[in-house]
Amino acid sequence: MDLSVREVLSRITTIPDMVRAFQNESHCRRLLEAMVWPNGRVCPACGYRHSIALMVRENGKRARTGLYQCSNGTCRFQFTVTTRTPLHATKLPLRVWLSGLWLMLQSDKGISSIRLAEALGVSQPTAWRMGHALRLMVGREQALDGVVEIDGLYIGGKPRREKNYSPPGRGRKGQPKS
Ligand SMILES: [Zn+2]
Repeated sequence: MDLSVREVLSRITTIPDMVRAFQNESHCRRLLEAMVWPNGRVCPACGYRHSIALMVRENGKRARTGLYQCSNGTCRFQFTVTTRTPLHATKLPLRVWLSGLWLMLQSDKGISSIRLAEALGVSQPTAWRMGHALRLMVGREQALDGVVEIDGLYIGGKPRREKNYSPPGRGRKGQPKS
């Protein structure tokens, strides 16, 4: 799948389209992985670029869990696509995140947390946190490689950087923690 998340989102024009596109959690996971790791998986703990996908057996078949383990011998951190990202805090299904992102990108003037809560069927505090986290995610993507240009997205000021957050693939490449 070589489509960027932006391309996928831009092809969704109606709510039923959206429901169809995001019904499958593992598909949502792949989309999000493409967004978070545009240049390949990066360990969020040490920045190492090699990791293995941890598998489970499901109906006799090996299936991905979305959980990865860093291959850096001194790290071995286990992570998913949302670990140490703004999306981690609420532990919502990925389809809810992607639907929220789509709704945000649909409206030129941003979307209120009240609207977001109604549309996604989540509580308003949850919607508020989601909006904040999504703006951070989008802002981060912009900061990384300018892939996303969305006007009017930053309602209520610029996204804040999280204190302990360092973008994947920046600065620590090739310097495994020792
Ligand atoms: Zn690591």
